[in-house]
Amino acid sequence: MKKESKIYSILNEKCPVCHEGNAFISSEKYDLKKFHKMPIRCENCNHKFEIEGGFWQGAMYVSYALTVAISIATFVLTYLIYQETDAWVHIGLISLVSLILAPLNYRYSRMIWMNIFTSYNPNKAK
Ligand SMILES: [Zn+2]
Repeated sequence: MKKESKIYSILNEKCPVCHEGNAFISSEKYDLKKFHKMPIRCENCNHKFEIEGGFWQGAMYVSYALTVAISIATFVLTYLIYQETDAWVHIGLISLVSLILAPLNYRYSRMIWMNIFTSYNPNKAK
């Protein structure tokens, strides 16, 4: 995967400007005490992650879109396996999968949102 691509920054949770500094303090996505913590600035290029006050509220729209995609994928997979299933089974499975993937959803929605508003700058990389 090209280091210059936004996909690299999103999947590796790297700073959207230099693609080298970590965007989250903990690399453990399921460490429930730390998975959401981010440094204020990039350790490598000093880019401020929260560009302006309320910036992360926009990431909720990305999170919503990811949740809809996860829900549809879960429904389709469940439907393909068990076609004669009660609706509550679908609702329960969608809820369970969404809950299990919530930390990933949180982190990737922020990464996608940051990468929409900032671009890679090779001069800022080491
Ligand atoms: Zn950086």
